[in-house]
Amino acid sequence: MTRLVLTNGRIFDGTGADPAVGDIVMEDGLIADVGSGLDGDESIDCRGKLITPGIFDCHVHFMADGDFSPNTHLNAPFSLQFYLAAERMQRTLAAGVTTVREAGGADLGVKEARELGLIPGPRMQISLTMLSQTGGHGDSWEVCGGFMPGMMDEHPGRPHNIVDGPEEMRRKVRELVRAGADVIKCATSGGVISPRSNPSHAHFRDDELDAMVAEASAAGRHVMAHAQATDGIKNAIRAGIRSIEHGIWLDDEAIEMMLEAGTYLVPTLIAPMGVIDAADRGADVADVILNKARAVVEDHQESVGRAIGAGVKIAMGTDSGVTPHGENLRELAAMANLGMTPGQVLASSTSIAAELMGIEDEVGTLQPGMAADVVVFAGDDFDVTNLGARVETVIQAGSVHP
Ligand SMILES: [Zn+2]
Repeated sequence: MTRLVLTNGRIFDGTGADPAVGDIVMEDGLIADVGSGLDGDESIDCRGKLITPGIFDCHVHFMADGDFSPNTHLNAPFSLQFYLAAERMQRTLAAGVTTVREAGGADLGVKEARELGLIPGPRMQISLTMLSQTGGHGDSWEVCGGFMPGMMDEHPGRPHNIVDGPEEMRRKVRELVRAGADVIKCATSGGVISPRSNPSHAHFRDDELDAMVAEASAAGRHVMAHAQATDGIKNAIRAGIRSIEHGIWLDDEAIEMMLEAGTYLVPTLIAPMGVIDAADRGADVADVILNKARAVVEDHQESVGRAIGAGVKIAMGTDSGVTPHGENLRELAAMANLGMTPGQVLASSTSIAAELMGIEDEVGTLQPGMAADVVVFAGDDFDVTNLGARVETVIQAGSVHP
């Protein structure tokens, strides 16, 4: 049993305490102790460096990588998606992200390949797909009458995702749980990257959402909602959905409701910006998608800024997949831009994200008995504006990621 010790680093432990200089000892994949003057068999000198818990990203898609061309999925052999996902998972871990919530795409085999040690990658909760109504954000029907291949296409490990009516909803949630979903993902409004949905329309009626949450709760699962439209957000909160993803049009009433219900907001600030950046880089982004991204970006920042100001629980999420993987920590700077302090940003990216995922007893803080997921950053500035470039060492379950 090797005891690895990080010495004299400036430690942000995720509990809400101010960062302080100290040592961390890890053994058997867990944190054994945090303090000063600690020793171990191997040590890494962290003087002048910042240490945080492994970073969480509560919204990623490993079956895409910031490429919007219709030809990408059309020309890819079926099984290539899994090999591509493996490389993206590794890139994400190398970026300092040790835990993710997969918001549609990865199936149980992808998750288990990591758990078996075949593929390095973040710890993962999976949703398999995104439930949508006919014509909703997850409906890949095109005006030509065909279906555009994409990251959530049905296959034996990834159930079909279009649901209408409460009875179908019961069966569908049970199918997802059977196929390995840790969390149920749905779209309670239209979205940006679906050509035929309108992000300002609410999707699913209350009886459908109630059936979804009831079935998910009975199976011990939370529900996460892609929700951009104001009504779609409110319907989701009222139904007891645990997190609002994106939250582009939050009005004061929606914010009040989130505070009341304890609903989390996963902003994904870099996602609409990423769509626009991709087009600027010359990527093949359909006009209908690009125009929607341009239309939402300012409203999105304004909404999230007000939610932050009001004290809504914020959990870090990027929608990586819509943007390229491995740039996850850009989101931290975007959060700070909207008024969060570095301590708030890092809490949202560690302990609060762990609470959202229901795993705060295992990961998200640096305390004895917790999983030894740790990131060491160059320089000890308590500043989140350029953390992505400062990642030096990523440790997951006590092992240093090469
Ligand atoms: Zn997403």
